[in-house]
Amino acid sequence: MQNIRNIAIIAHVDHGKTTLVDKILHTCSLFRDNQETGELILDNNDLERERGITIVSKNVSVNYKGTKINIIDTPGHADFGGEVERVLKMADGVLLLVDAFEGPMPQTRFVTQKALALGLKPIVVINKVDKENCRPDEVHEKVFELFFNLEATEEQLDFPTIYGSSKQGWMSTDYTQKTEDILPLLDAVIEHIPAPPVSEGTLQMQITSLDFSKFVGRIAIGRIARGTVTENQPVTLMKKDGKLVRSRIKELYTFEGLGRIRVESVKAGDICAVVGIDGFDIGDTIADFENPEALPVMHIDEPTMNMLFTINNSPFFGKEGK
Ligand code: GDP
Repeated sequence: MQNIRNIAIIAHVDHGKTTLVDKILHTCSLFRDNQETGELILDNNDLERERGITIVSKNVSVNYKGTKINIIDTPGHADFGGEVERVLKMADGVLLLVDAFEGPMPQTRFVTQKALALGLKPIVVINKVDKENCRPDEVHEKVFELFFNLEATEEQLDFPTIYGSSKQGWMSTDYTQKTEDILPLLDAVIEHIPAPPVSEGTLQMQITSLDFSKFVGRIAIGRIARGTVTENQPVTLMKKDGKLVRSRIKELYTFEGLGRIRVESVKAGDICAVVGIDGFDIGDTIADFENPEALPVMHIDEPTMNMLFTINNSPFFGKEGK
């Protein structure tokens, strides 16, 4: 069974999320022991397709010490209310990235609160300790206060802290001890974030986000809660309103580096993208064909159209192309 960690990353704009994820990808491709990448996509058609379906989602995934780490991007603003909760549900832990000079910002409070309320295990990364006048100890204290005010559990308050500089490419449990790389952060993820819970039974996958490709149409993304999903498998789509729709999985992808790779099957605990399910909505469950059992319905406030317009024009999405 593949070892997995699903971790969501939370950061205020400019605190260094892009730089950190970039360094993680770089480090892991250097350290990668060239094995088990599954069926890498081969022909141009598929590559085009890949490009088509990587537009919206910014999830990345790396392999480190035999463990697959899915890093789930989280919108950093309360306006993304429903979206935040949805993506957090794919994770077992969060990386809260905080600037060592600025400290936690009001905009990260909402997302942090959601993550704590969902019982996710936090790791705090105090970034930019290379900056002159930075205040890592004070910022650590501020994060503790924030967690306390947000009613974190004892266990959450006992969060591990990693200090470092994404820009210089190092992380350490002690900021006075500069290291050579960011591996202490990945070690902390493997040590402190629980592996996805394993439960036996037939397939259950709740659709938590969607993507669109002009080649294959709508793509359902979610984490497999139970069972295994396989290419060509007949499934039942369980709509939120109780309707059952017979369907079939056409193509399956998991996250790999910055992109996605096509795979034949995906097991519980991993996050995947599914092509072929007609008429799905977010919150529906993809379940066993014969004995479908739904996961609890997600109650999420959807943003209004007006808000969607704002989101698409927001600086957050504008930064994507960097
Ligand atoms: P994001 O908005 O959270 O994705 O932040 P970026 O990764 O784009 O970083 C924002 C700015 O902070 C950029 O100019 C980075 O070069 C800079 N930056 C990121 N990490 C560090 C760091 O560890 N130290 C310093 N001094 N600057 C950093």
